Amino acid sequence: MSNLTQQTILSVHHWTNTLFSFTCTRDLGFRFESGQFTMIGLEVNNKLLLRAYSLASANYEENLEFLSVKVQDGPFTSRLQHLKIGDKVYIGKKPTGTLVVDNLLPGKTLWLLSTGTGLAPFLSIIKDWEIYDRYDKIVLTHTCRFVNELAYKEYITLHLPMHEHIGEIIREKLIYFPTVTREPFQNRGRITELMETGRLFTLLGIAPFSSENNRIMLCGSPNMLRDARKLLNGLGFLEGSNSVPGHYVVEKAFVG
Ligand SMILES: Cc1cc2nc3c(=O)[nH]c(=O)nc-3n(C[C@H](O)[C@H](O)[C@H](O)COP(=O)(O)OP(=O)(O)OC[C@H]3O[C@@H](n4cnc5c(N)ncnc54)[C@H](O)[C@@H]3O)c2cc1C
Repeated sequence: MSNLTQQTILSVHHWTNTLFSFTCTRDLGFRFESGQFTMIGLEVNNKLLLRAYSLASANYEENLEFLSVKVQDGPFTSRLQHLKIGDKVYIGKKPTGTLVVDNLLPGKTLWLLSTGTGLAPFLSIIKDWEIYDRYDKIVLTHTCRFVNELAYKEYITLHLPMHEHIGEIIREKLIYFPTVTREPFQNRGRITELMETGRLFTLLGIAPFSSENNRIMLCGSPNMLRDARKLLNGLGFLEGSNSVPGHYVVEKAFVG
């Protein structure tokens, strides 16, 4: 357990019967870059069960925040979803991941395309004022099946623009585009279809993707990642990594 610290649950919020978020204390020595993930551990029958989780909190915040699925009969989340204030969790000391701005070449607009819990790393990024310095605009898209799965919608649209330190830059630079696929809503459809048909750009009034100006981060389901990669590669975008920066970077929201 030397790679883990024990932390205490401070709050739990259930969004739906398949989605919840929680905050916990943060070890003083725990540093991470916006967009990274770490391991969360739970002790089950004297054994440690570990899963990868994106950090949803900003890297300057006092506590850590995570957004989690509830998988029915999932070995980890069938337990994690019952967390209560005061319970203990283990947090990995070594955050990592590809969704970091240094893995992207310089550009004008940063697109953060997410489905489901793939929103989590982008919550960290949209609160990081240093990232706004690098781009003219940041566009965050979040696609879910149902409207009530658009976690943090009110936070992003109502609270963040009023934030005492970053509210002004959020109002000036952040564009949020939620879409749902399975019920009526102001924006409907899979993000890859909206990209392919060009409707995304028409609706937002923004020029279509070009590898010259646009940088993209993707975090979502295996299907979304497969289709988006195909589309971007077809437009001449190059995938970046921790060793070579590119036009776009990808992280799985889960292993399908
Ligand atoms: C890099 C990385 C970052 C991750 N970040 C997060 C995160 O921030 N939040 C989070 O909830 N999960 C995240 N995951 C997934 C997480 O590690 C576990 O899979 C999840 O906690 C479920 O664990 P489980 O043991 O209950 O079910 P598992 O046995 O791990 O999964 C069972 C099945 O449930 C489905 N599933 C698992 N996770 C998800 C999900 N997030 N959304 C939709 N379906 C899913 C898949 O079909 C999977 O095969 C991440 C995974 C990776 C690889």
